[in-house]
Amino acid sequence: MPGRVVIAGAGPGSEDLVTVACLRALAEADVVIHDRLIPMGVLRMVKEGAVVIYAGKEPGRHSLEEGQIIELMVRYASEGKTVLRLHGGDPFLFGRGFEECLEVLRRGIQCTVIPGVTSAIAAPEAYLIPPVLRGVASSVAIVTGTEDPGKGRRFVDFRKLATAVDTIIVLMGASRACEIAREVIEGGRPPETPVAIVTRAYMDGQSLTLTTLSQLASCNIKVENPSVIVIGDVVGRAVEAMRLAGILTDEPKRQ
Ligand code: SAH
Repeated sequence: MPGRVVIAGAGPGSEDLVTVACLRALAEADVVIHDRLIPMGVLRMVKEGAVVIYAGKEPGRHSLEEGQIIELMVRYASEGKTVLRLHGGDPFLFGRGFEECLEVLRRGIQCTVIPGVTSAIAAPEAYLIPPVLRGVASSVAIVTGTEDPGKGRRFVDFRKLATAVDTIIVLMGASRACEIAREVIEGGRPPETPVAIVTRAYMDGQSLTLTTLSQLASCNIKVENPSVIVIGDVVGRAVEAMRLAGILTDEPKRQ
């Protein structure tokens, strides 16, 4: 009996945000290959004797290369095992879940996908920041702040993006936050545009920094990893909601 591969998202960091489908898949899996940014507590759901493999990719340090991860999935599935590949957030949003699924299918192995709650939307929501809002923002772009150096070309043109969409949500942007802010200003977005940096959402040490494009462009704000950066007027509108909800008791934390 050939095995199969399930590619699942485990949400942004809290066990509360793992889907029922993902929990079920954890209980059924013979092998679990997981990322760094998953709620580690869910791993206790695995059945006795299941193999659990860490395949985390820290910025600049990969415990397993992508090719090795795929080989492992194919090897175990070929032995008849059910392999669960667990990604942080949603598996298809900057997670290589699609590439893994396609490669597994090409090798003649069944692959299914379980969506996950993405940090791109959920991290801002921890502070009541909506991605879009009637009368304020009708469009949102979710982009990566870090390019794959191997690609040899820039993918996201922040100058062009600056005025093309209302809300810009940047993932993997911690190390380039300052440059990104500069480029967005150069692209024509007002320097006073509000920015929220949500760090470690739904994890220990969760925090929010409220700032503006011009302050971020000054390079004086240290952005920790992992963070979701939200640029746009939706941030300004969320401040009232944060105050009413008791999330912001004082003046917003500014750096
Ligand atoms: N597939 C994931 C994203 C993977 S890319 C998803 O859908 O969420 C990794 C980036 O996601 C990080 O650099 C950071 O920008 C963001 N991220 C993931 N978890 C996060 C969290 N709990 N808090 C803040 N940012 C997070």
